[in-house]
Amino acid sequence: MLGRTHMAVALAATALLTKDPSQLPINLAVAAASSLLPDIDTPGSMLRHKLNKYTGALTFPALIAAGYFLFKYKYFLLLSLILYLTYIGLAFIGPHRGFTHSLAGFLFFTFILFMSDRTILPPALIGYTTHLATDLFTPSGIPVLYPYNKSFKIPLVRTGSILDILIGLAFGLMFIAVLFQKFI
Ligand SMILES: [Zn+2]
Repeated sequence: MLGRTHMAVALAATALLTKDPSQLPINLAVAAASSLLPDIDTPGSMLRHKLNKYTGALTFPALIAAGYFLFKYKYFLLLSLILYLTYIGLAFIGPHRGFTHSLAGFLFFTFILFMSDRTILPPALIGYTTHLATDLFTPSGIPVLYPYNKSFKIPLVRTGSILDILIGLAFGLMFIAVLFQKFI
C-alpha cells in the first residue's frame, strides 16, 4: 500500500478511537509516524523517499535523532532507546518487507512502547497494526513468521493502483468526517 493510504487508515481509526480531545494531536502524530515506520526497510517508501527525495540517506540518522529526543524528553527509557535503535538496525540490514512486517517486528515494537511512556502506546499500535493489516491485502503480503520466508496474503490491492488510491481517499474523507463529528 502507498504511504498515504497507510496514514489515512491510521488517522481515521485513531480519530474514531480517541475519546479525550486534548489527546487528539499527539495521538494523530504518533499514529501517523507509526503507520509509516514499518516501511523504513523499503527504499521507495514515504519515509525513505518522498519526505526527502534527494537525501533518502538521511532517514536513518533522522530516525536515530528522533529516538534520542524521545529519550531526552522522557517518552523513552534508556532500555526503550536501546531497543528502538536495535529495531532500526534490524530494519536497515534486513530484506524489504522482512522483520518490520512480521509478528516478531510487531512484538518488538510493542515491547519498545511498553517500556516507554505508555500514553503513546494505543495510537502507536493503531498505526502499526493498520499498516500490517492493509499490507496483508497486497500481492506481496506480509512475512508474519519472518525469518521463515513465507508470505501471508489476500491479494486484492496492488500498491500504487487506482484501488489503493481510492481506499486512501475514502479513509481520508472518513478521517475528516470523524474529526468534524466528534471534535469540531
Ligand atoms: Zn509495508
